[in-house]
Amino acid sequence: MNQYAGHDGTPLLMEKVVDWGIKNLDRARAHAANTPWELHSGIPLEWYTLSENLYRAYQLTGLTKYKEFGDVWRYDSYWNKFAETSAPTNAQGVHAYSHCNSFSGAAMAYLIEGDPRLLRILKNFHDYLQSSQCYATGGYGPAERYVFADGALGESLALRMDSCEASCCSWAAFKLAKYLMMCTGESRYGDWIERLLYNAIGAALPIVENGKHFYYANYHLGAGMKIYSHNPYTCCSGTYLQNVVEYQNLIYFHNDAALHVNLYLPSSVIWETGGQAVKLTQETRYPEAETVTMRLDMPQPQNFTLRLRVPAWSCGVSFKLNGSALNVAAQPGEWASIRREWQRGDRFEMTIPLNFRRAPIDRQHPDNTPIAWRSCVAPWSLHSRSCTST
Ligand SMILES: [Zn+2]
Repeated sequence: MNQYAGHDGTPLLMEKVVDWGIKNLDRARAHAANTPWELHSGIPLEWYTLSENLYRAYQLTGLTKYKEFGDVWRYDSYWNKFAETSAPTNAQGVHAYSHCNSFSGAAMAYLIEGDPRLLRILKNFHDYLQSSQCYATGGYGPAERYVFADGALGESLALRMDSCEASCCSWAAFKLAKYLMMCTGESRYGDWIERLLYNAIGAALPIVENGKHFYYANYHLGAGMKIYSHNPYTCCSGTYLQNVVEYQNLIYFHNDAALHVNLYLPSSVIWETGGQAVKLTQETRYPEAETVTMRLDMPQPQNFTLRLRVPAWSCGVSFKLNGSALNVAAQPGEWASIRREWQRGDRFEMTIPLNFRRAPIDRQHPDNTPIAWRSCVAPWSLHSRSCTST
């Protein structure tokens, strides 16, 4: 509230709450483990997610007690599994969402301390999820666990209804990908954000009366359903709101020289550069339509670079400026960069051809979907709506 809304009273309230925690919270804890079952989220539950916001409080206020209390809840024992590899053999079986969320603590530690080892850990953990844990939707964590890379993810399509904790998993991934984009400048992390935006949180049922909300995305090949959680107001009703608020942090990024457009959504941003405010406004129906239109508005012509995420899955992305084709290199998985003197009223178009594609779920199941779908007995519930997940 202080950062985004300028509320003066909140730092004092935050300090009171944290002072209570410093004085009273038990430092004893058990790290998460594959077995016994009770340990999958550690004891006390998910303690390893606390450091991120304490580090953010330190960044906001400069008070060292926040940094010191954040250090108490670091999760180096798990983070270190990814120090030298993106394919550790001892990272599976633990609670999926909260372990992803803990890496936002590692990201904040990196932003404060600058230790390159932490950045390496973040990259490796991201790549671990992409290579062995994520469904085509970007979701992860059947039965809320990380799976072994032995075909278990493919098998989960036939065995599990609890494929992905849609809202919480989106929330943790959004932050991790955002931190990685900020720290590396690489566009590829935005691809995961985009996939989750449309297929996980964006495909969730809306929260309705009495706290009814969506919890598990269910990718079961023979009986996929889209239904509300039995329990009201779980974690996923909270992270649903946090996700929606986070969208504003995921669309645009900038550095001194360039404005970066990560997501193609109807939106606008004002960026201060060269002593003036540049306003960019996006108009689009993407991904229901292929073209994104961006209008630029500023008092004087301004020389700067506009960088646009070219989705890794895309092919044949093209550009127009004021109606004329513009020759710009567009390598999938990279930024397309356009540096020029932009004029007030410039109208820039980006077309991303929307093609059908298939993504094998894992090495053991390269062709897993069509037959199972055809034989589907599909007990679609009254709450189901059209699936957007593949
Ligand atoms: Zn949840």
